[in-house]
Amino acid sequence: MARVAIVTGGTRGIGEAISIALKAQGCTVVANYAGNEAKARAFTEATGIPAYCWDVGDHEATQAGCARVEAEVGPIDVVVNNAGVTRDGTLHKMSFEDWNDVMRINLGGCFNMAKAAFPGMRERGWGRIINIGSVNGQSGQYGQVNYAAAKSGIHGFTKALAQEGAKFGVTVNAIAPGYIDTDMVAAVPASVLEKIIAKIPVGRLGHADEIARGAAFLASEEAGFITGSTVSINGGQHMY
Ligand code: NDP
Repeated sequence: MARVAIVTGGTRGIGEAISIALKAQGCTVVANYAGNEAKARAFTEATGIPAYCWDVGDHEATQAGCARVEAEVGPIDVVVNNAGVTRDGTLHKMSFEDWNDVMRINLGGCFNMAKAAFPGMRERGWGRIINIGSVNGQSGQYGQVNYAAAKSGIHGFTKALAQEGAKFGVTVNAIAPGYIDTDMVAAVPASVLEKIIAKIPVGRLGHADEIARGAAFLASEEAGFITGSTVSINGGQHMY
């Protein structure tokens, strides 16, 4: 039986590339998204992967969404917590809403998805949870106390849950991407982006499928001895 994989924010950017890579690897894939219906429709038409809409930052909606996926597709074996947003601003200008949205979606989304899927994985003795962090969660970033805190939290969440899953065949890992050429990075002003690229040793932005290859490997049968790890895929930025 094919493994059932769900990718949050799986219809666009890095998530879209991960959805496609997991399907190519033989998984039955479901993508979640937040509300961009036009993009989700185009994604499903192009890939044949069904898309389910809910806010991963909403605990009840996530439990209901995952229950619907399990009823319609099957028990969830692989979760890729990829959905994420930015609400950048320096602390003195950042509103509580901008702080809370990022914590609720980027970090709370990981908890909400794990609450829905981890118990079943544990009972069945096999599972893969892959959390998408960020180089900025490792290094901090000016104007991103919310995003850096949420992404840094993902790395702690990963190590703690990995300890709970290890003896049940459930691995939990993170990927910390560097700067990748998606809509999220397209929103960064060109002058700022130029300075960022100048600090990336390989001298370019990454591509979504370069993150997807890492995620597909961590989701595979062969990756069962890797757990609690963070894989940095960042063109050599911050080599630590
Ligand atoms: P995009 O902005 O291109 O895509 C974001 C995806 O997440 C969309 O599918 C969006 O759905 C979905 N999404 C947003 N909010 C929610 C929500 N509340 N509930 C469910 N889905 C949601 O992002 P990227 O592909 O660039 O980033 C993907 C992940 O990688 C994020 O976690 C990001 O923080 C991380 N990352 C990205 C980097 C980069 O350089 N791009 C660098 C490091 C980390 P919809 O289409 O409906 O809006």
